[in-house]
Amino acid sequence: MTISEKVAYLKGLAEGLNLDTEKSKEGKLISVMIGILEELAMSVEDLEENALNLGEEIDVLSDDLADVESIVYDEDEDDEDYDDDWFEVECPTCGETLVVDDKALADGEVECPECGSRYALDLSDDDEEDGESEEDEKE
Ligand SMILES: [Zn+2]
Repeated sequence: MTISEKVAYLKGLAEGLNLDTEKSKEGKLISVMIGILEELAMSVEDLEENALNLGEEIDVLSDDLADVESIVYDEDEDDEDYDDDWFEVECPTCGETLVVDDKALADGEVECPECGSRYALDLSDDDEEDGESEEDEKE
């Protein structure tokens, strides 16, 4: 039973009492109270319907926002990839993918997790004539 139906039932009960709503103060009180209950019931049901509609609209908006987020954040992740100074190279020995990350750059070398080969990283700019042309290879 909805609130409106309960109020309608209550109204029927009151009418069954044949209350004198003109001369009896109690009868008038009950009549006014039932009138207020009827208004409240309609207001509450309107609000409930509005809340349901709003919920559906929020679902739609949420889906749209998720689409936007997937686009925006995917681009951000791409940017972060560029910000993070890491890249992948192929191990010359076994072909395993080597990740050259911050740690490898700090160490100046990268070790292959597959075959254990180590490779020195040449961090200097290409072909600068700074007198030292010898290539320092760590093992
Ligand atoms: Zn390897």
